[in-house]
Amino acid sequence: MMTAPKPLGDTLALIGNTPLVRLAGPSAAAGCDIWGKCEFANPGSSVKDRAALYMIRDAEERGELKPGGTVIEGTAGNTGIGIALVANALGYKTVIVMPDNQSQEKMDTLRALGARLETVPPTKYADPCHFQHVSRRMAEETEGAIWAGQFDNTANRRAHIEGTAKELWEQTGGKIDGFTCAAGTGGTIAGVGMGLKEKNPEVRIALTDPHGAALYNYYAHGELKSEGSSVAEGIGQGRITANLEGAPIDTQFRISDEEGLVWVGRLLREEGLCLGLSSGINVAGAVELGRQLVSEGRENPQVATMLCDTGFRYLSTLYNPAWLSEKGLPVFDWLTDT
Ligand code: PMP
Repeated sequence: MMTAPKPLGDTLALIGNTPLVRLAGPSAAAGCDIWGKCEFANPGSSVKDRAALYMIRDAEERGELKPGGTVIEGTAGNTGIGIALVANALGYKTVIVMPDNQSQEKMDTLRALGARLETVPPTKYADPCHFQHVSRRMAEETEGAIWAGQFDNTANRRAHIEGTAKELWEQTGGKIDGFTCAAGTGGTIAGVGMGLKEKNPEVRIALTDPHGAALYNYYAHGELKSEGSSVAEGIGQGRITANLEGAPIDTQFRISDEEGLVWVGRLLREEGLCLGLSSGINVAGAVELGRQLVSEGRENPQVATMLCDTGFRYLSTLYNPAWLSEKGLPVFDWLTDT
């Protein structure tokens, strides 16, 4: 029987409780069911609305964020969009510091939402001009401001322990054999991993790492070492953030942008889902994880992953032939058909 979602009393209740959908192409490729958690259905069109809400509520509960205050954050964009929406709903101001190589759509969106936006050149974390350090200093110097600090603020992963993992457990009726996703802050993989393992320690948690990130080598060989690079926004971590500490990672895959783009293209053209590249990379990882569980003889394995954000945020990049060619990436054939 179809049940329509319950009516909600306020707009913040729109965050989370996202649909879970079976992905036909990935399921056929893996030989088992692959499920996508539709995070693009959040009000800010990404998974990061969850962390934004939890970090702001946490700062309020700790008495650090007071009426009329300001939330400052360094972000690749999606967390900023989530923070701006939640802050608007609760009467706070938003200041976002973001590397200037992120998509134009994210910057335009942040400005449209009323956030103050500062961009900085992309640099290594050790550089004092890195967007995270700039945003932290700005918060220290601003009266009535808090720094959200998503990388090391574990209210972020709590959003996934108490939200995403619980939802996945309920939506699958407890029949979930594997979960995988890539890490930006690591809040999602750690939080969902912890939440699912608490329910059933046999659920296999796999990290799907893009090229250019250091976590694959860390979990495989105990060494934080990166190779190659990726144009995927929002993922690719080079250190063990506080959110990643104690993350129950059982296995790991390394996925290239090209492999991720294949799934971005297929999900768009074959299943009508327009997604960002981190979602494509996650789906490629989920197919690997599904195959692994099938090859071990696990009966009818059910694997879930995150569809992190909407592709409409990347029209000027992933869906732009000139940009794809400039990055040396394959251009979707329907973009060049005239
Ligand atoms: N995909 C996208 C598009 C993101 O913006 C982020 C967040 N940076 C992630 C994946 C990774 O999520 P997390 O920070 O929870 O590791």
